[in-house]
Amino acid sequence: MLKDLLAEEFQYTVSDQIVCNRSILDILSKHQECGAAINRSTFKAVTNCGCINIQSSKNKVSDSTSLAELKNIMDSHLKGKLCLQCREAVEKDIGKSLVYLAALCNSLDINLFDIIIKEYNKTKLLRHYNLT
Ligand SMILES: [Zn+2]
Repeated sequence: MLKDLLAEEFQYTVSDQIVCNRSILDILSKHQECGAAINRSTFKAVTNCGCINIQSSKNKVSDSTSLAELKNIMDSHLKGKLCLQCREAVEKDIGKSLVYLAALCNSLDINLFDIIIKEYNKTKLLRHYNLT
């Protein structure tokens, strides 16, 4: 499968390219830094650009609401769409995070694609009950 090869090639390429941050300590701290950068670029889309905004309030869920119904009731609190410039900034930070995630997998001898498949199968099996 093409996606399988692409994920494996990506992980292999990261292993080949990352020279300076080979220490598990560097990789973990860089990956955490990328998470903060994703938050920051998303916040900047709200506060600097304004292409998206956050409108938060308590979700109206009753005791009789089923888990299947929650999907339609729960609000993302996000209004608007990322403009091209903000989308590129968020994508850049997500991409960098993926690089360090692949580097972490390399350090721990874990196959990233195997994890994707396991999570995919778990999500399909548990459907609405996953991540509750
Ligand atoms: Zn924007």
